[in-house]
Amino acid sequence: MIVDSHAHYDDEKFDEDRAEVMKRIHKQGVVRVVNPSSDLESVEKCIQLADDYDFIYTAVGLHPHEAKSFSLGTVDMLRETARHRKVVAIGEVGLDYHYDLSPRNVQKECLAAHIQLAKELSLPLIIHDREAHQDILDIIRSEKAYTVGGVFHCFTGSVEMARQVLDMGFYISLGGAVTFKNARRPVDVAKYVPGDRLLIETDSPYMAPVPYRGKRNDSGYLTEVISRLSSIRKTDQDLLARQTAINADRLFGLDL
Ligand SMILES: [Zn+2]
Ligand SMILES: [Zn+2]
Repeated sequence: MIVDSHAHYDDEKFDEDRAEVMKRIHKQGVVRVVNPSSDLESVEKCIQLADDYDFIYTAVGLHPHEAKSFSLGTVDMLRETARHRKVVAIGEVGLDYHYDLSPRNVQKECLAAHIQLAKELSLPLIIHDREAHQDILDIIRSEKAYTVGGVFHCFTGSVEMARQVLDMGFYISLGGAVTFKNARRPVDVAKYVPGDRLLIETDSPYMAPVPYRGKRNDSGYLTEVISRLSSIRKTDQDLLARQTAINADRLFGLDL
């Protein structure tokens, strides 16, 4: 019983064999996938995926890369789309100071508007944070995002940051990075997060775990992440899979 809390099967890298991949991962024990949108075009694709496949759920929002295309009309559109039964969160949203594809002040405004929408709709947030740790924490506090909570996906912060994120009621999601040879921070965080606040993810098609690093990632490879996490946390693999699935269900309401 595996739940992939973050994947992008709407990505064009799956255009040629999406149906086969969906069938295969479901057979491999992946019982739910949360597939958040990234840009306006992907919102429609994600809703379509959720309509086509029982086990796929989705979230709507603009990735920080796309913050520059954000407008008030966007909020109205997302509000309308979020009424769909299988939209379980607002995301993915956040700040990305690594690529800086949108100006930082625009990214911040876009994130704040998404937090307001999440609060209005009582939906959790899926947060993307790349090299923007302090600004994200500041915005979460000033906008009171902790009233709806959510998850920091592909968490890259320190144990100290994890402590603050957990204190505010958020979940922490880990993926392929825990299997990388140079992984130190994700391993320290993996030891630290309480069992009832941990999620697992692929961020497919990116972040494939060792020994598939660099290949197209899919939820079938989550077994590598589960195996590594269970050895770091000294727990049983089935138990870890089950616990992270239950956590995802508690956060998103996945009808498990
Ligand atoms: Zn992300
Ligand atoms: Zn993502």
